[in-house]
Amino acid sequence: MQEYENFELKNYTSFKIGGNARKVYFPETVEEFSNLLQSIDAPIILGGMSNVLISSEGINGNVIISKKLNKFEISGKTIKAQAGAMGPLVAKSAAQAGLSGMEFMCGFPGSIGGIVCMNAGAHGQCISDIFSYAKVFDLNSMQIKTLYPNDMGFGYRTSTIQQEPLIVLEVEFNLTPKDKNEILSKMEANQEFRKNKQPNLSKPNCGSVFKNPKDNSAGRLLELAGAKELCVGNVQVFENHANFIINNGGARSEDVSLLMKKMYNKVKEKFGIKLIPEIKFIGEMNEVEKEIWKEFLNN
Ligand SMILES: Cc1cc2nc3c(=O)[nH]c(=O)nc-3n(C[C@H](O)[C@H](O)[C@H](O)COP(=O)(O)OP(=O)(O)OC[C@H]3O[C@@H](n4cnc5c(N)ncnc54)[C@H](O)[C@@H]3O)c2cc1C
Repeated sequence: MQEYENFELKNYTSFKIGGNARKVYFPETVEEFSNLLQSIDAPIILGGMSNVLISSEGINGNVIISKKLNKFEISGKTIKAQAGAMGPLVAKSAAQAGLSGMEFMCGFPGSIGGIVCMNAGAHGQCISDIFSYAKVFDLNSMQIKTLYPNDMGFGYRTSTIQQEPLIVLEVEFNLTPKDKNEILSKMEANQEFRKNKQPNLSKPNCGSVFKNPKDNSAGRLLELAGAKELCVGNVQVFENHANFIINNGGARSEDVSLLMKKMYNKVKEKFGIKLIPEIKFIGEMNEVEKEIWKEFLNN
């Protein structure tokens, strides 16, 4: 297993923002991963790093990156995938095998662990629709457990994994047999839909910044409140969708936090709605960030 000290994370993130982590591990097998979880303190787990804002001050602790834990296998109507397997790759293999249910995963760079943790979804599908069970490591009991759908507390962009010290090791999904060409054309349509509405990764971003409020759209509220004109330093609100922030180069986590606060204030002032961040802040906050994220997380 590779391990590094004082490891720069910025270039691993879809946002191209973030400082150094004190210690980083890249386990390559589920056994290595769970042995590591037993032996180090307070690990932070990262997958595709496409839904996180990593502090520019860095992470003063142990980080496990699941990237090398990327095996998956298809058997009949099921797919079993390790936590670090990348969603788009698993989804493409499912399509080739004539299995439907993962079409939504082709458009964003999440790992299976991150996708399950976030209950990611798009285009009318989400991971909870196809989830069969997960093997997780429980940092309270220091044991491996199997969690079934009823144990997962799945809701809109949330799951038990976010509330409790549970680490996803591997997951099994139940898919539906379907004509391969039908699945592939649904995936193409999903990609086409994103093309103009959302930034691709040539404009570093971390997906939707805020969650949609119940029966509403964060992007629509932000646009109506005039957020599209906002920027701070080298970060700006994306011109085609007001719930995305683009890093134009060299931005720091504080720039993103300040821009998020401006976006949040616009919607709060115009509609009285307090938006809740979808992205997760990871690492050491400076004083400005502490103040901003305290307000966000108290909602
Ligand atoms: C261009 C773009 C488009 C996007 N579109 C969508 C979309 O349509 N729908 C959507 O839902 N999301 C979207 N996202 C956001 C993101 O890709 C998803 O939330 C994805 O599921 C995050 O997975 P990740 O592996 O990158 O997680 P990370 O960003 O690495 O981590 C996210 C959270 O999951 C936790 N985590 C990661 N791995 C594990 C594990 N093994 N065990 C326990 N916890 C873990 C982390 O600690 C963190 O809290 C988009 C992002 C981008 C950049």
